[in-house]
Amino acid sequence: MFQITCPFCGNRDHSEFQYGGDAARTCPGQNDTDMDTWSDYVFMRDNPVGPHTEYWQHVRGCRSWLVVSRHTASHEITNVTLAHNNKTSTETVPGQHKETGK
Ligand SMILES: [Zn+2]
Repeated sequence: MFQITCPFCGNRDHSEFQYGGDAARTCPGQNDTDMDTWSDYVFMRDNPVGPHTEYWQHVRGCRSWLVVSRHTASHEITNVTLAHNNKTSTETVPGQHKETGK
């Protein structure tokens, strides 16, 4: 088992968190109509062994979405940041809705 350091709550067992997906994926544009692009985005997942950037939500704590850099084999965590600060992904953070201006 491993622990994740939540920026608000400190070190917590990973069982308090829920995995939210690959944080390095890029969502196709809303006007992208290529079915292969969308099919790959929706259904295809990498299963890397090694460093991986992932979304995790602290569901049994402050409910914040985090971006965690974790080695998938050793579970060593090298970085944790708040997801809304993630500048490496253009994808909408899970659980966050884009502003509509209304
Ligand atoms: Zn927390």
